[in-house]
Amino acid sequence: MLYSSKEKISNSYDVIVVGAGLAGMTLANKMARDGRSVLLLESHNKLGGFATWFKRKIDSTNEEHIFDVSLHGFPVGMIKTCRKYWSREIAERIHQLKSVRYINPQFEVETDFTKEHFIKVLTDIFGVTLETVQAFFDELTNMNFYDNSKMTNRELFEKYFPGRNDITRFLLEPIVYANGSNLEDPAISYGIVFSNFMSKGVYIFQGGTDMMITMMRDELIKNGVDIQMQARVEKILVNDNKVNGVLVKGHTIHSKSVVSNSNLKATVHKMVGDEFFSPEFVKKADAVRLNTSSCQVYMGIRAGESIPYVGDLVFTSEDKIFSTDLILSPKVGSQTFSVYYPDTRPHLDPKYAVVSSSNARFEDWINLNEEDYQKQKQYVIERALAGLEKIIPGVRAKIDYVDAATPLTVQRYTLHEKGASFGTKFEGLDISMNIHKEIDGLFHAGSVGIIMSGWLGAANYGVIQAHEVDNYLSRLEKSAAK
Ligand SMILES: Cc1cc2nc3c(=O)[nH]c(=O)nc-3n(C[C@H](O)[C@H](O)[C@H](O)COP(=O)(O)OP(=O)(O)OC[C@H]3O[C@@H](n4cnc5c(N)ncnc54)[C@H](O)[C@@H]3O)c2cc1C
Repeated sequence: MLYSSKEKISNSYDVIVVGAGLAGMTLANKMARDGRSVLLLESHNKLGGFATWFKRKIDSTNEEHIFDVSLHGFPVGMIKTCRKYWSREIAERIHQLKSVRYINPQFEVETDFTKEHFIKVLTDIFGVTLETVQAFFDELTNMNFYDNSKMTNRELFEKYFPGRNDITRFLLEPIVYANGSNLEDPAISYGIVFSNFMSKGVYIFQGGTDMMITMMRDELIKNGVDIQMQARVEKILVNDNKVNGVLVKGHTIHSKSVVSNSNLKATVHKMVGDEFFSPEFVKKADAVRLNTSSCQVYMGIRAGESIPYVGDLVFTSEDKIFSTDLILSPKVGSQTFSVYYPDTRPHLDPKYAVVSSSNARFEDWINLNEEDYQKQKQYVIERALAGLEKIIPGVRAKIDYVDAATPLTVQRYTLHEKGASFGTKFEGLDISMNIHKEIDGLFHAGSVGIIMSGWLGAANYGVIQAHEVDNYLSRLEKSAAK
């Protein structure tokens, strides 16, 4: 059932899930289907976490724009995950993007983002031998999560394409946008994400994020999950090295286990508290690096206007060479345009929208005074308008809504420290997966470690952790029966 935000919940649960991102929601749905009593608490007034959208009315016309925040593209694996852990109806709405384009001073390429086409581009346009390309893909395919290889992305690209900044750009730029990877990150994280994306193209949910999350909410309620929104968990309660519930607005709700879908570092240091963990664990959690954040510019095309088809995802850059450090800088010339045609929401009046995304560092925004913050925001908006105008001449005159989100916006809405868009770096996975060994009944699921990030990674991680929680609850039941 859906509790109103004012109701005091007095039931106790097998599991309380803190946060309704895709990991928390998927875990909650699976556990409820498996017969567990589940309470899902979300601090925001909607479900979905980063999988979110917002609406803006144009006062003069009363027309409304809908913008998707993170519906840019995910791997084909999302179809199977949705079919298995959500519903056939949700899975059937997942469609492949037709065209992904790159426009930068080094090359212009259009691709369907399949492995076959990538091989063709690398050989025909970049002039690499088929043998080398195949060896590169073989290395990616054979990368094993448990190998503990120390190879970095930089070393991987140098091994196969020495001195070829253009090829590094072609291969890495989408992944930098997809999960904040850089050249010093482990090649394994790149390999797994790249292989997932490259196998069969890039996909999105037709109907928009609002429709997907609404369908998921209905499914959660149908399967018996209790949900409360505007319910920010202040504390995860621990007694005798065991969780026994959470504190929400000063009120305790009891449970046998708690899964945090909140930021990993906030979970350890703030919601639980360092004093409940071993000093070694706290030290390791402290050392986990957060991923970077993002800036986005949302541009709505006036009702009745149209724009030509220019591709679904367009990676553009003015920068002569590719640098993952430059990509984070406020003055970067790189941005990705996601173009939403009427087909994105065929059930609504024909509407077009464009979202420009660029990676960003929280540190570059947090110390600005109000005036400089507004100036910097205006710069990002202007860069987006000017960049889009190059792809669609005359588009500026058709735009009747534009606004930007910065790393500060991301932090405010999702409670992710420093507005980290993709959780933590690789080392976060170890902390997240082993938190239950420190405190009985405490689990974490959500964007960590690059691989477990993005829509698919987060949802799949929810499934993995649902198994862990279920095993824990079964062990409790067995020992109680003795
Ligand atoms: C700008 C941007 C673009 C992106 N684009 C893509 C893309 O194209 N494709 C893709 O696959 N991925 C994309 N991602 C990443 C993807 O959206 C995320 O990795 C994924 O949705 C994260 O899911 P999650 O389960 O980890 O939780 P989150 O989405 O982080 O959700 C966590 C939830 O927990 C809630 N919460 C936190 N603390 C508390 C508390 N104390 N009490 C109650 N609730 C709490 C938050 O409000 C939030 O709803 C993008 C991300 C960003 C920021």
